[in-house]
Amino acid sequence: MKYLIWLLIVFAGIWWIRQQRKSPSNNTSGKPGKKAHHTQGGPQEMVPCAHCGVHLPDSEALQGQKGVYCSEAHRQRQEG
Ligand SMILES: [Zn+2]
Repeated sequence: MKYLIWLLIVFAGIWWIRQQRKSPSNNTSGKPGKKAHHTQGGPQEMVPCAHCGVHLPDSEALQGQKGVYCSEAHRQRQEG
């Protein structure tokens, strides 16, 4: 029976830690902040070049008739 009690305590501890991590709106300070960077629709949206497929910030992409491009050369190659 001792093992069962310890198992319950361990599982309760794991569950409690997970609950703490799931809810960011807690009073606990010292967040790791790793997942906060890669969010869709962030300040710098990445778009793929229609010619070579490389991803670049939307602000640096060149707008073409068939899509966006990473450089003027790729836009000319793709659209002729
Ligand atoms: Zn390109």
